[in-house]
Amino acid sequence: MTIQLNEHFAALSKNYLFSEIARRVRKYQQSHPDANIIKMGIGDITRPLPECVVSAMKKAADELGNADTFRGYPPEYGYDFLREAISIHYSEIGVKIPIDDIFVSDGAKSDCGNFVDVMGDNDIYLPDPVYPVYRDSNIMSGHRITLLPSGRENDFLPMPNAKTGTGVYYLCSPGNPTGAAYSAEQLAEWVSFALESGSLILFDAAYEAFITDNNCPRSIYLIPGARACAVEICSFSKTAGFTGTRCGYTVVPAQISANGVCLRDLWARRQATKFNGVSYPVQRAAQAAYSPQGMAACYENIAYYRKNAAMLASVLDEKGIYYTGGKNSPYLWLQCPGGMASWDFFDYLLEKANLVGTPGEGFGKCGEGFFRLTSFSTHELTEQAVRRLREVL
Ligand code: PLP
Repeated sequence: MTIQLNEHFAALSKNYLFSEIARRVRKYQQSHPDANIIKMGIGDITRPLPECVVSAMKKAADELGNADTFRGYPPEYGYDFLREAISIHYSEIGVKIPIDDIFVSDGAKSDCGNFVDVMGDNDIYLPDPVYPVYRDSNIMSGHRITLLPSGRENDFLPMPNAKTGTGVYYLCSPGNPTGAAYSAEQLAEWVSFALESGSLILFDAAYEAFITDNNCPRSIYLIPGARACAVEICSFSKTAGFTGTRCGYTVVPAQISANGVCLRDLWARRQATKFNGVSYPVQRAAQAAYSPQGMAACYENIAYYRKNAAMLASVLDEKGIYYTGGKNSPYLWLQCPGGMASWDFFDYLLEKANLVGTPGEGFGKCGEGFFRLTSFSTHELTEQAVRRLREVL
């Protein structure tokens, strides 16, 4: 063939993190067939969908099987019943979002990755360590990326500084992989920086429902001025157990514009052109998740994971190990003991405790020497993991 392929893909690093983890685990299991390995690496949930969510989905499927209630293509931006439920969810946390600013999607990953379509030639600023989708989607589009280093000195919450210029800033709070959540004061600093410099913030709030600290905003729109400079991306995956069901949403406030062009119009056009909506049963399920009964069930599941996080945090506290997360987040991001490199610590935990986590180096240079554990397992397995950690740390 003589066609040109996207040359920017060559700049992507090999997608080796989870495949390398799987390879090392497989190799260990082959040589230790009796080892009872506990996996606390991948960020997938284990609790089933709430009952009212499942019945809403079944009822919607029945409607599709009846000529009188059948529906075809869903609206590209989401059914109004779900956009209204999302707007009510926002009002419950103190934010007023008009439904026209809400775009329902099949998940936050798609929205994070697709947003490059409406961006022009900008400097892109990403935290290091980073949720890889922000980095790789910008590499694929050939964008200029500047990393914002983070570490113990800023508790993995990078802030604007003298070197950060005008551009597009991806922020994730509570963060993946670090679990660290920005305070209201820190977010206010980000918002005033964005307003002064004419920058855009892409705020990923996929883990907002895990926040317990009243001073950590669950939405960037709790910060005055954010509606003029921030897009917020959110998901039903971790809040309501939708990792396999697939639903998320993005808020693009009508007020954001650049050179007289309204960003919301571009995103609406992008979605209408490239996306055909989320299935009706899934949108009914998402609506049920944001009903009072659904939210109560979701918070029960979140409390379940939170208990796991507290168990893991207690052993780290006991051993005096530095970590972020675990309080407002399902992730715990710990410093590998004894100055170990993150892959060395991975091998150490696998061999000595038959435990699998995620080496921090896989999320960026600043993740070297750190390690991610998740609280999405069962109580039983987390208890076992805690016992093993207590022995080997
Ligand atoms: N954003 C962050 C920070 C995540 O960690 C994840 C999933 O792990 C996503 C977005 C993707 O969410 P979704 O399942 O809605 O695509």
